[in-house]
Amino acid sequence: MKEFDTIAAIATVLGEGGISIIRISGSKSLDIVDSIFKGKNNRNLLDIKPYSMRYGFIIEKGTEDVLDEVLVTYMKGPRSYTAEDTVEINCHGGVTPTKRIFQEIIKAGARVAEPGEFTKRAFLNGRIDLSQAEAVIDIIRAKTELSMKSAVLQSNGRISKEINSLRNRLLQIIAHIEATVDFPEDDLEEVTSNQVSIQIENIINEVNQLLITADEGKILREGLNVVIVGKPNVGKSSLLNALLKEQRAIVTEVPGTTRDVIEEYINLDGVPIKIIDTAGIRETEDIVEKIGVEKSKEKIMEADLIIFMIDLSRKLDDQDKEIMDYIRDKKYIVLLNKSDLENKVVKEDLIGLNLKYIIESSAKSGKGLDELKDSIKELFFKGEVKNQDIIITNARHKEALIRAKESLSSALDTLNNTLAIDLSSIDIRNAWSKLGEITGDTLEEDIIDKIFSEFCLGK
Ligand code: GDP
Repeated sequence: MKEFDTIAAIATVLGEGGISIIRISGSKSLDIVDSIFKGKNNRNLLDIKPYSMRYGFIIEKGTEDVLDEVLVTYMKGPRSYTAEDTVEINCHGGVTPTKRIFQEIIKAGARVAEPGEFTKRAFLNGRIDLSQAEAVIDIIRAKTELSMKSAVLQSNGRISKEINSLRNRLLQIIAHIEATVDFPEDDLEEVTSNQVSIQIENIINEVNQLLITADEGKILREGLNVVIVGKPNVGKSSLLNALLKEQRAIVTEVPGTTRDVIEEYINLDGVPIKIIDTAGIRETEDIVEKIGVEKSKEKIMEADLIIFMIDLSRKLDDQDKEIMDYIRDKKYIVLLNKSDLENKVVKEDLIGLNLKYIIESSAKSGKGLDELKDSIKELFFKGEVKNQDIIITNARHKEALIRAKESLSSALDTLNNTLAIDLSSIDIRNAWSKLGEITGDTLEEDIIDKIFSEFCLGK
């Protein structure tokens, strides 16, 4: 195992709470804590059994003042989160005791850990690979149970196992090619070339299977980007509120009052849906509203799905038609709102719209909302997400898979067109290396640093 200095961080959120945890990792962690710890009945911390707790006090060096009453846990490496000796101090929750104890630990010789450094150590010490490390942060940030479940599977090494198996098969192919090239005989080359082509095709298929999960995986992790558009007063805020089942957006009778964009998350059967309520796309002279309008256009461009609301109680007008022009090339659901009022919109008005998904609704009574949710699910999830064992949720992983696939396709071309099997092995090696970026085996150090820098402190 590599030798690192001893690091420390506050692992819990700073604020008032029952307890705070300060985490120390490295070969000196027990010595450092021992130097500021006074056990009950003067028991020495150095004789603590691994995976047990010791009760006592943290003492300020020099003054010998008692800072706080604590419980100290000791996890001996390599059986710890970082794979190093790790000590955790549970102290009273609260900013002051936690910070004071943390300062004493730093004074006693630990270094302040960088964000993600504990997990990085687990990676550098070989306890987990990069995709497992990334899953840790995904678990922390998960917005729904389903996205958490997929992150937990990833943290258990499901993706790594799949990737490693693909990489091993590529290595075997490379070995096979090299053996053939070393003992040249034309017949042998041809046989090998055919065999290799078939194996590569199989691997491409498996990479494709993983890539298919990636689009849904992105949604699972980041949420589906749904934007509600419609002219002022059609009921956008009311719809958002009805979906959220709480009054968060301001609903008013005056047209054009939802001036900015409002973003909220709802949980649709485990899929996080980010819903954005816009100010509509009205040409306007009002500067405040103009900002809102510009933002709306931006949000429409970025959206995965548009909910286009039409007010059934008012005749269709230029504003509606203008919005239609904006959303034409996007995926959208048409919501005919205020269906509880007298209908003034005729079918002919809607010519030019794709009416595959059209729903009569009332944001007021809740009519049509279930149908709306079902349509969203139908549009994006063909019922596959939940049963999938492995879901690629990480954009970096997806990118590496795409690159690996490109190299494999290029290898296949070489094999089919030239039969020069030794040429194809360069591409196969590239694919092997690209897949290794997912697990971190073949990734450059600065990229690894960047990945961990996005972690929270103390993790
Ligand atoms: P926005 O400007 O598009 O956000 O529209 P609001 O959500 O602020 O709604 C404007 C007005 O229409 C409010 O008075 C709502 O109560 C009312 N409203 C919204 N949806 C419906 C509906 O389905 N039926 C009826 N009768 N009124 C509605």
